[in-house]
Amino acid sequence: MSLMTKIKRYALLRHLRKSKIPLGLWHKTIAKMPLMQRYNSSERMQIRLLAGEILRCKAIVPVQGMRLTDEIRIMIATQAAILIFGFESSDDTFSLDWLRNWNQIIVYPTAFRNGRENLLSTDGFLVSWAGVESGETQYQGGIIIDWQDSQPHPLHAHANQVLMHEMAHKLDMLDGYTNGHPPLHANMNEKAWFEAFEEAFEDLNQQIDRGKVTIINPYAASNPAEFFAVATEYFFEAPKRLHRAYPKVYQQLLLFYRQNPISNS
Ligand SMILES: [Zn+2]
Repeated sequence: MSLMTKIKRYALLRHLRKSKIPLGLWHKTIAKMPLMQRYNSSERMQIRLLAGEILRCKAIVPVQGMRLTDEIRIMIATQAAILIFGFESSDDTFSLDWLRNWNQIIVYPTAFRNGRENLLSTDGFLVSWAGVESGETQYQGGIIIDWQDSQPHPLHAHANQVLMHEMAHKLDMLDGYTNGHPPLHANMNEKAWFEAFEEAFEDLNQQIDRGKVTIINPYAASNPAEFFAVATEYFFEAPKRLHRAYPKVYQQLLLFYRQNPISNS
């Protein structure tokens, strides 16, 4: 073990001692989370630390009769931590900077009415719709999820990760636009990102136009922002399927989330 690794490990353990998640409860909770099974012990330590930080800094707010237990709170924070733990830089700063544009997760027990009306833009596109949803993200506001659709489940070929989907929208919004393009890391290439995503988005829309059964959820074809959010769900829950359908998108998400779920699946 190099000196740097030793120092990093020491810093991590020091933070973990102050973590809000007691070890026994942590082990009991993650044993019920199939998404956690792919991570090794040092990755789990990082995820536990980050989940503790998320619980400290963000509010998880139950509504409409939702009953939050410690275990559910940890599951929610852990799902969030899985998404962003790769962002932690090697300088031992445990920053939640990537979550700076939201402060709370509102949790409904089941799918909720979004309370909006159907609205068409002047050029005829549906820009707001009335309906029942599992998750929602507002540009200025928190993340809304329903627990029935967000709780841990066996990994499916058709990914369903409501919280990760909504968090991906928030990451996308960090640069001021909701267009399927979050701020990229310095070692990433803007052109490669756009090429991969535009090509895949067009391909998915063409498949739908031809009446074909699509490999990933056709909802991704709604617009580039939804494509990025849905691709994020697949990247974590059904990475091989995303890689088979759109390898370039998988590669860009690997660089962005700084982890490779296929290698551990
Ligand atoms: Zn969405």
